[in-house]
Amino acid sequence: MRRIIGGGLSGLAAAVNFAKEGEKVEIHEKRENVGDQFHANYQVLLDSHGDAPSYLKEWGLKPKFTYKNVKTFLCCTQKREFTVSMKEALPLILRGGDNSLERGIKDEAESEGVKFHFKSKQKPKSGDILATGSYRTDMAAFGAYYENSDFPRDQFLYMHDERFSPRGWYLYIIPMDKDTIKVVNCTSRPHTKNTKKLLFKAIEKRKILSDIIDGAKPTGTVGGVGGAHFPKSAIENGILKTGEAAGFQDPWRGFGMNYAIESGVLAQRALSTGGDYDKMWKAQFKDRMKADIARRGIFWIFGNRAFEFAMRNVKEGDEVDWGRINFSGWKKALLYNSFYSAEMLKKSTMDYW
Ligand SMILES: Cc1cc2nc3c(=O)[nH]c(=O)nc-3n(C[C@H](O)[C@H](O)[C@H](O)COP(=O)(O)OP(=O)(O)OC[C@H]3O[C@@H](n4cnc5c(N)ncnc54)[C@H](O)[C@@H]3O)c2cc1C
Repeated sequence: MRRIIGGGLSGLAAAVNFAKEGEKVEIHEKRENVGDQFHANYQVLLDSHGDAPSYLKEWGLKPKFTYKNVKTFLCCTQKREFTVSMKEALPLILRGGDNSLERGIKDEAESEGVKFHFKSKQKPKSGDILATGSYRTDMAAFGAYYENSDFPRDQFLYMHDERFSPRGWYLYIIPMDKDTIKVVNCTSRPHTKNTKKLLFKAIEKRKILSDIIDGAKPTGTVGGVGGAHFPKSAIENGILKTGEAAGFQDPWRGFGMNYAIESGVLAQRALSTGGDYDKMWKAQFKDRMKADIARRGIFWIFGNRAFEFAMRNVKEGDEVDWGRINFSGWKKALLYNSFYSAEMLKKSTMDYW
């Protein structure tokens, strides 16, 4: 019987794939249900090219869940505000609660015979896979829900403003169901304790935000922390660590879902086939990890002026092709190598990104 500790995305992805290989598997989850670590909120799934189900299928998952593809966003740099569309739609995935991705994978897992033990908090030394989520705070997010009927339901807002989201982080608005919007601010260490205060300051000081919220009081909150610390080995005492329990998280923007799902499946494959897990995740994450670290270096050094610069030629109504905005070829390699090295040096001396 395979034993997985933690029923987040990485634990669930591993469990479904074990079961599909015909192995018996159980998940121990300390909460009452999967997805209970979040209030319902939408999260961006990268690398899915506008097609979240196909991405998940590639990783052995066919869950039913709620998501929406968004192509338009209100882009706010420190100085400008303009609406643009994206060449490729961005899938926003429901996390937490009914119809969320984790509930969908849980249903799939149960139909494949995975056994769940809820309210079962386990010691980290007790499983084949440790998928217990973040163990350190490199970044924090705090958000508030407001009742608002005006914000377009098919857009989101994305703001880089150093005064409120240091250093080089961002604030966003995503419409939830009916007439509610979620306004979230993100910061990195050493600013994480101020994330909430800075969210309300941003709403007060940036007219575009106060106009959108228009005096409404928050009806609820959401938040959490993330930890990124790519280890030399993600195997400890014979247990394979996945997702944020291993330190797999994007230090640039906190987009950890891909790292979680993919590492969960790679851990399952390593255990089922006798493969070398460390070699497998290093090969899978090498390029993404390096790019995420390099971009964090750029945003750490220049703050949100880096975003201002990247968007300098984009105007109201333009279509944004992120591939074109990023540097390409040798310039990109040189830029990324330099900032990657600078950021790694900072992390090794100061222990934060
Ligand atoms: C507010 C917020 C917004 C985010 N937005 C995005 C986004 O837009 N895009 C993106 O890609 N990523 C985003 N992320 C990050 C992403 O959600 C995480 O990286 C991802 O969910 C990590 O998955 P995981 O399986 O490693 O851990 P988790 O999802 O944290 O799951 C860990 C599970 O283990 C359980 N557990 C913990 N300890 C024990 C124990 N001792 N015994 C049993 N069970 C235990 C927990 O209850 C939990 O269910 C966001 C995170 C937050 C907080």
